[in-house]
Order: sequence, then C-alpha cells, then structure tokens
Amino acid sequence: MIIVYTKKDLINACNEYKKDGKKIGLVPTMGYLHEGHLSLAKESVSNNDITVMSIFVNPVQFGPNEDFEKYPRDTERDIKLAESVGVDVLFCPDAGEMYVEEYATYVNVEGSVTECLCGEKRPGHFRGVATVVCKLFNLVRPDNSYFGQKDYQQTRVINRMIEDLDIQTNIVICPIVRECDGLAKSSRNVYLTEKQRIEAVILSKSLELFRKIAVKGAETEKICSQLSEFIVSHAECKIDYVEIRNGESLEKLDIVDGKVVLALAVYFGATRLIDNCVIDL
Ligand code: AMP
Repeated sequence: MIIVYTKKDLINACNEYKKDGKKIGLVPTMGYLHEGHLSLAKESVSNNDITVMSIFVNPVQFGPNEDFEKYPRDTERDIKLAESVGVDVLFCPDAGEMYVEEYATYVNVEGSVTECLCGEKRPGHFRGVATVVCKLFNLVRPDNSYFGQKDYQQTRVINRMIEDLDIQTNIVICPIVRECDGLAKSSRNVYLTEKQRIEAVILSKSLELFRKIAVKGAETEKICSQLSEFIVSHAECKIDYVEIRNGESLEKLDIVDGKVVLALAVYFGATRLIDNCVIDL
C-alpha cells in the first residue's frame, strides 16, 4: 500500500494505473475506520484492480457548532486496517491541500434530495459532501465508487450529482454493517457513554418495528408518531427526525407506497446518530 498526501501524487499514481488499463475503485471516508468502512474497501478490492481509499475529515461539511474539532482521528491505526483489507493507495490530504487559501468553488445539489432530513437539520452539510466527493472523483477518476447505505441521503445526493454533472463513475451502495446488538457501526459511537451505548440499540429496534407495522397504504405520519413514541419511551434521547420518504427522490409521502425509506436521527446527549431502512411495498 502506498500513502499519498498530495493531490499531485494521487493524480500521478492514478494516471499510471489508468495507462496500464487498471480498473480503479474509490472509497471516500473520514477515517477512524471500522468494519463499515472496511466492508466498502473489501467490496472494492474484489471488483477492481486498484482500490484508492481517502481519509479526510472534511471541514466544509461540518457546521460551526458541530464536532469537526473533536471528530475521532487515528491515522496510524487506519493505515494498518486499510492495508489489512488490501487497499492499494491511501490518500490522506490535509485541509490546505484540498482547499487552497483562495478556494471558492462549491457543488450545490438542489431540490428534494437535499432540502429535507440531514439537509434541513445540518445546513451546508451536503454542499460540503458533494464538493469534496466531486473533487475526489476528479482526482481519481474511479471506475467504481463505494458508499454505505448508512448515509442513505448522502447516496441520493451523490447519485443526483453524478447524473447532473455527467461524472463517469459507477456508484456502488453497500449494506449497513452493525454491532452484534444491531447498532449501526459509526466512528461517532465512541462518543457514547456506557448507558447511551446500551440505549442506542433502540434505533435498530425501531427499524425492526417499522418493518413489522408498515403495510402498503399505511399513513406515514401515524407510523412515525408510533416509532418516535417507541424510541423516547425506551431511551433518554432527543429525536432530531423520524421520517418516511420516497426512497429515490426523498420527497414527502402521505402513505407508504413503493420504495420508501425510514430515516432516523436521534441525539444521545450531544451525540447525534443516524440510521435507516428501505422497504419496497
Ligand atoms: P464516514 O467516514 O463516516 O464519512 O463514512 C465513509 C463511508 O463509509 C460512507 O460511504 C459511509 O456511508 C460508509 N459507512 C459508515 N458507516 C457504515 C456502516 N456501519 N456500514 C456501511 N457503511 C458505512
């Protein structure tokens, strides 16, 4: 595995691979790697000749009162983990490398995929995500790019962006990797106290409940109220949103019909966790 810190070195490495006709897979991450990230890397390794993983805590996607400063980082450990699953190139730029002082260009995906859920609750978040992912696409020019269903809205935003901007990469969405008790793996889980960690299982439990009670034609508002009630009655937490939306466009739905996503964001203390499930009825 080679580790590159500059865009120039990344471009040079990728150009060499391309010249040799090698197929490249890209796995963008913010590091502090866990099994979720590694599942993306493994998928890429088995379907491409070269896997490029980026580790970059992107300041542009964090709001002023969010956890950019304290976001967990452990590059030494990440290097070992990335190498262990067969990553070929690890790109670890610093913020100045990605955003020069006079930096002024951002990708704004508009419309239904960014107006709701995390787009509404975290203004500017997807502008930062789309911008950095677009830059990574331009640097690596990957044949395949790997994202987790864990960040469902992000996958919809990236899909919209590649279609709208004619970006030539195939997006692969990988399933959510969970802890034994069902909690979705997340770098942010380390913030949880012991009690919060136990109670956080209520998120995946509420997805299970949703799968049981959701039938075609059911009123989304009623289901969401029931799920919210279920969550707050079992854990000391604060709901940011519990919503059922169209699984493609993320538009609001009155009733469950076709491909729909249940998306959750819940605060345990200051720690905000997200989870989701998609059903097709
Ligand atoms: P992050 O480092 O949190 O920005 O995540 C980098 C990539 O890993 C994103 O595409 C995430 O959706 C994906 N990811 C994060 N957690 C999981 C998980 N538990 N299962 C599958 N993919 C994940």
